[in-house]
Amino acid sequence: MSLVRLQQVTKSFGKVEVIPPLDLVIADKEFVVLVGPSGCGKTTTLRMIAGLEQATSGEIRIGDRDVTNLRPGLRNCSMVFQNYALYPHMTVAENIGYGMKVRGTSKADIETSVANAARILNLGAYLQRKPSALSGGQRQRVAIGRAIVRQPEVFLFDEPLSNLDAKLRIEMRTEIKLLHRRLKTTIVYVTHDQVEAMTMADRVVVMNQGRIEQAADPITLYESPKNLFVAAFIGAPSMNFIEGRLERDGSGLSFRAGNDVTVPIPAHRMQALAPAADEEVVLGIRPEHTMIATGSFPTVPLNVADIEPLGPHTLAIGKTGTAPFTAQVAAGSPIRPDDIVNIPIDVERMHLFLKSTGEALG
Ligand code: ATP
Repeated sequence: MSLVRLQQVTKSFGKVEVIPPLDLVIADKEFVVLVGPSGCGKTTTLRMIAGLEQATSGEIRIGDRDVTNLRPGLRNCSMVFQNYALYPHMTVAENIGYGMKVRGTSKADIETSVANAARILNLGAYLQRKPSALSGGQRQRVAIGRAIVRQPEVFLFDEPLSNLDAKLRIEMRTEIKLLHRRLKTTIVYVTHDQVEAMTMADRVVVMNQGRIEQAADPITLYESPKNLFVAAFIGAPSMNFIEGRLERDGSGLSFRAGNDVTVPIPAHRMQALAPAADEEVVLGIRPEHTMIATGSFPTVPLNVADIEPLGPHTLAIGKTGTAPFTAQVAAGSPIRPDDIVNIPIDVERMHLFLKSTGEALG
């Protein structure tokens, strides 16, 4: 079992507490991605699991062992770094096998393990090359190979794809996912890129200021963000937000913002939203939920500033009132900058948040 458990783990640098008490359980064989803005504490959390940072308090367990005070070499984790950290004077084969050599493994066993890692990672043709004669993607595969031969209980990845160009990043995303399926080990992976997180993870942990805002599978995060932070962080282009008020409207409820925007609340959401009547709220709607072909939906007026034709569809970017707003419209749409257009809101897909706390409502 390679379960990883952080219990009330904190980290302070000097007097500054960057991780307040954190609880997180990563299941055996789970692929968990820690994601969040720069400085939110994801790398520190990963390094505490690896033992490269000592937790200030709390307990870290890997499998059935308390590793809180163990040095990194005894934790049975392998870490893959953003900058690859390869030895430039060694060949690919020597780089991959170096850790085993240091531990006194026999030459024959090293050769078997290196060949096995090279086969898994498609590096067979490069084993005698030096890192300087490899592409960025190949170097990263060597770094992963070095982690594989240690046969760790847990793989830790710290922004491993940040130094690769966009196309290679997408290819390596798939490779690491396939690797996870093949090796069937627990992976904890850190990135600041929410698309990377969403495409790779079994479960995404969204962090902010050292805290976990929400931990869930990608679709749950996308469809049911718990609060404004997660709603804004997950999704590209990001969710639109309009500030307003939830007002009683005869026997129903409506979201109102200024004179231009009135969005009636669907009957089946009324009960859950009733406690927020008369409160200041924020309506959230993703750009992709504004392109509705049929039916009659409430609309918001969009003052268009720019058009981005992306091929399958087009983005109309501008403002509604003073709020920035992006709508997804049909490819080839006649909408132009400076137009004011009514953008439909799919009331079944809209989100509402309490303005004072940011928490999602009903
Ligand atoms: P990034 O995506 O930029 O790497 P991150 O989410 O991984 O960010 P951390 O590197 O974990 O964030 O840093 C969390 C906080 O701890 C930051 O405010 C950072 O400045 C601080 N910090 C990290 N390492 C140290 C250190 N050795 N000494 C003091 N402060 C540190």
